[in-house]
This record gives sequence, structure tokens and C-alpha cells, in this order.
Amino acid sequence: MSLAPPAAVVHARAPGKINVALQVGALQEDGYHDVAVAYQAVSLYEDVRASHADGFSVAFTGTIDTSGVPLDEANLAVRAARLLAAETGYRGGAHLEIDKHVPVAGGMGGGSADAAATLLACDALWGTGLGREKLLALAARLGADVPFALTGGTAIGTGRGDRLSPALAKGVFHWVLVPAEHGLSTPEVYAALDEHRERHKQDIFPAVRAPMVGADVLQALRAGDPHMLAESLGNDLQAPALRLRPSIAEVLETGEASGALAGVVSGSGPTTAFLVADSDAALELHVALSASGYRTLRVTGPVHGARIVHD
Ligand code: ATP
Repeated sequence: MSLAPPAAVVHARAPGKINVALQVGALQEDGYHDVAVAYQAVSLYEDVRASHADGFSVAFTGTIDTSGVPLDEANLAVRAARLLAAETGYRGGAHLEIDKHVPVAGGMGGGSADAAATLLACDALWGTGLGREKLLALAARLGADVPFALTGGTAIGTGRGDRLSPALAKGVFHWVLVPAEHGLSTPEVYAALDEHRERHKQDIFPAVRAPMVGADVLQALRAGDPHMLAESLGNDLQAPALRLRPSIAEVLETGEASGALAGVVSGSGPTTAFLVADSDAALELHVALSASGYRTLRVTGPVHGARIVHD
């Protein structure tokens, strides 16, 4: 019996996410915030193909403008590959080709999905065999949203968003996304939130509350009921994102006036996510938003986390 030769290219795919609910706790001394987030992985994927190389390099393909994304060590996928090599003592490198579909700096965790897919792809390419648990620990070191991009589905994140517990979700939720042409910087959105809270601290009584995902969110997910979930969508980063990018307000108004059950800014924005009742409603909303001049993406969730794809 002959063993199959090791693969020359490994293809891994990881999803982008929507934050169905996001509460942000007070600013801590280390400059970070604790959050409580209900994540849902949606059917918009990053495809990473890893091949053997002496060093580490990355290239993007696809139609999304990636001109603002670094291609050096600052790239999250390169950082993921380097971290895996350092942790396992692997001496070679990898070339990463990323077919990008998640909007850049859009609040949908595209970079995190790249990192998660890269961990999985390089682990298989190099035969380092770390397995899910150890990859999850590495993922958390790369960024708060990276572990969720590995696990996918619907989950609650606490701590920095990286301490995950699965949430029961029934059925399929239909979303219509409106990506923006230009991204928003996540640190700038958090800074705008902190600045607002500092300015109004005498009005925030007794203080910024400890973040939690409400029972209403969990119940709506468990019931698989988009009408119920529409009542519970919420995001503490929405108001600061709107202050930095006032045009989001118009998108939200148009979507809600055109038949969406509810709209919410995803994560730190500026992507807006509209929840609709079913695929027919998604198509209707797409038509209405297109008529108003907006580009949309129709996605469903939950979907699986990072996986190897056998081409
Ligand atoms: P966050 O996870 O911070 O909420 P986001 O989902 O809003 O991020 P990303 O597309 O992940 O947006 O990009 C965030 C920042 O990370 C951008 O400024 C981008 O230049 C940088 N970045 C580094 N590596 C990548 C990558 N592989 N893909 C996308 N962005 C990357």
C-alpha cells in the first residue's frame, strides 16, 4: 500500500460573522473592554490556499478592494502562519492566496476568518497536526474574533469575545447586508464609544453595566424565530459607528422602511445587517435597496466554521 503524497496546496474556508447582539463593558486599565456578544457565522466566506514556500507571503484575489490591507507581517493571515510555525517548531514557510469575499474593515471579521482558515490550512499542509483545541488557543492569541471563525455556528463570546460557548439556534436566519465602500477602524469606533461615555458619565447611572447577552436573544435564537430576534438585535458600537459615519443612519432607515424586520450595524461597522423573515423577503429587500442605489449581499446563518475544502 502506498501512502498518498502530501498535498502541495491546502484549501481552507472560513466564514464572516454578524454580531446579533453586542454589549461593551467599561474601558479597562490595559485599554481593552470586556464584551458579551452573540455571534452568527454567515454564508460569506474567505478561501485560503496555502502552499509550501521558504518564507511567508500573501496575495489576494477576488473582486474586493484589498488595497488598504497590509501584505507584510501585519497581515493577520501571515501572523497566523508564523505563530503556528513558531509554536510547532516548523522550519519552512507558506505562500497564502486569499480569495476575499468579506468586506475589508467592515465589522464582519474578514481578517479573523483569514487567520482561522490559515491556521487550519497550514496545520494540514505542514502535517503539524495540532488539532482543534490547540488551534483554538492559538486563534485567541491572534484576535478576539479568530476563535469564533474556527468554530462557526452561533455562539456566545465573553471576555474579549474569545471565550466561546455554543448557543442553540434552530433553523436558518436570512440576512441582507449592505457593505460600505470604505471601512471603519475598530479601535476608532471603540475610542468614540469611550469618549461619549466619559463625556456623559454623570448621566450613566450607576456606571457602565457589565456586558451580557440577554435572555431574549438566546430565546429567539433557540426558537429560530426571526420576528422575535428582530426585537432583540442590539449593538453598543452602533451609536459610535453612526457618529463616525452618519450615512449609516440613512441605510438603516431605508432598509427598515423597505420591509426589513430590523437592521443593525455589524460589530464596529460600517456593514449594516438586515434581518428578514425568509428568502423571498430577502429578495424583495434586495430589490428595494438596489432601487435606492445600495449594493447588497444576501446571506444565511448559521454556517459552519473553518474547514478544509477538498477541491
Ligand atoms: P475587526 O476584527 O477588527 O472587527 P473588521 O471585521 O472590521 O475587523 P477586517 O477586514 O478584519 O475588519 O480588517 C481589520 C483591519 O485589519 C484592517 O485595517 C486591515 O487592513 C487589517 N488586516 C490585516 N490583515 C488582514 C486580512 N488578512 N484581511 C483583512 N484585513 C486585514
